[in-house]
Amino acid sequence: MSANGLLTFAFHYFFMPTMNSISFDNTEYAFDYKKNSELKNAHFLFSVIGKPWLVNLALKLTPLAIKWKLPFVKLILRKTIFQQFVGGQNLEETAVVVDHLNTHHVQVILDYGVEGGGDGEKALDQAAAEFIKVIDYAAGQDNIPFMSIKLTGLSRFELLEKLDSLMNQLEGSLINKYLQAIDLLNEEEKEEWQKVKKRLHIICERASEKKVGVLIDAEETWIQDPVDALTLSMMDSFNKGRSVIYNTLQLYRIDRLKFLKDCYEASVERDFVLGVKIVRGAYMENERKRAALMNYSSPIQTNKENCDRDFNDAIEFSIQHINKISLIVASHNEQSNFYCTELLAKNGLPQDHPNVHFSQLYGMSDNITFNLAKAGYSVSKYLPFGPIKDVIPYLMRRAQENSSVSGQMGRELVLIKKEISRRKQIK
Ligand SMILES: Cc1cc2nc3c(=O)[nH]c(=O)nc-3n(C[C@H](O)[C@H](O)[C@H](O)COP(=O)(O)OP(=O)(O)OC[C@H]3O[C@@H](n4cnc5c(N)ncnc54)[C@H](O)[C@@H]3O)c2cc1C
Repeated sequence: MSANGLLTFAFHYFFMPTMNSISFDNTEYAFDYKKNSELKNAHFLFSVIGKPWLVNLALKLTPLAIKWKLPFVKLILRKTIFQQFVGGQNLEETAVVVDHLNTHHVQVILDYGVEGGGDGEKALDQAAAEFIKVIDYAAGQDNIPFMSIKLTGLSRFELLEKLDSLMNQLEGSLINKYLQAIDLLNEEEKEEWQKVKKRLHIICERASEKKVGVLIDAEETWIQDPVDALTLSMMDSFNKGRSVIYNTLQLYRIDRLKFLKDCYEASVERDFVLGVKIVRGAYMENERKRAALMNYSSPIQTNKENCDRDFNDAIEFSIQHINKISLIVASHNEQSNFYCTELLAKNGLPQDHPNVHFSQLYGMSDNITFNLAKAGYSVSKYLPFGPIKDVIPYLMRRAQENSSVSGQMGRELVLIKKEISRRKQIK
């Protein structure tokens, strides 16, 4: 080999695996999918929801206005926040957004936005039927590898809460506590829980047949234990050799890094692939409020640094075991997304590794999504759809998260302004 050849080989061998050139600054890629008028609408929306007093007022009034069926409120929502964060009111409307994202190599996690228990068993059965429709639709599309579910869309909230509370009074492993807690329910509740399990089982079975991943969202800690146990039992049935079912781990919780490691141990022992979607967590204020009110120690990290540390450690642990863990990094944090791309490079893993996926919410952090897609990573938008009244809780969380208190709104506005001015310059 010539000296030059040797140098090239040495460069590639020692440096290439750790080189990682992704940048999230390119707003041309980030907003290529938006017309000028859409960009201006987004600018207006983020400016308005940047005002915390307005968001607080809207959080109080909107649910009432929807309850009183005030038609102009629905129209305003539809033309503003709904359009920014939601795919459409039904699958047909949403398909347009799905196709548009596909042209930019962005995949979709489809979310039928029902949450909060519905009105009785009939509503829960209907929600399950709707989830099956979503799976069938996703299976026929090129770019929908996953759909997501909230267990509160399949179960009465109070039943989950009761199971969780019973589990907390018991000793042993998560699964043992879960099985014992079911035994402690009354006959009517046992029957009700059987139906919840059956609904989820039918969904997972169909998803497995159709090769669509099912992501179970994480919700409040006071209902999460039975959700975790049921999700793990579904993984045990359906994640043989490949991951179909994914649990969501909120790393703002003090105990979740250990939980990830425990779940990994269990998956090795039971020989299934562990599917995990990692998030920081969306219910911090309510968690802290409830803990203070009911006088128990808050399950949430004491500060953001600890939350960030555990989130990044969860990425690192998953990458170290990537043959047995299927990981979804669900975050708008540039540093965490960058860290994951860096770990892939450092470990000589391809950008489109089948067990590593990135995701951001539709309407947010386009700079991360579209720059990752452009660089060849497997990345999606989490895309909710559904009638306006059903997606209100989701929209309220987005408004809160994007009000100026949290800082996310600032990031979005800066990027949008940068792109508007870039487009003006090239005219
Ligand atoms: C695709 C996708 C799916 C999601 N699914 C779920 C889900 O199933 N369940 C769920 O709960 N959330 C879910 N989320 C929302 C998520 O949990 C976060 O609320 C949101 O993404 C903001 O966190 P971040 O990682 O993007 O970044 P950042 O903006 O860096 O972090 C903000 C987050 O850090 C945490 N935090 C902020 N301050 C503190 C503090 N002082 N102490 C401790 N922690 C703090 C909070 O969780 C806050 O939301 C999802 C997000 C995405 C992108």
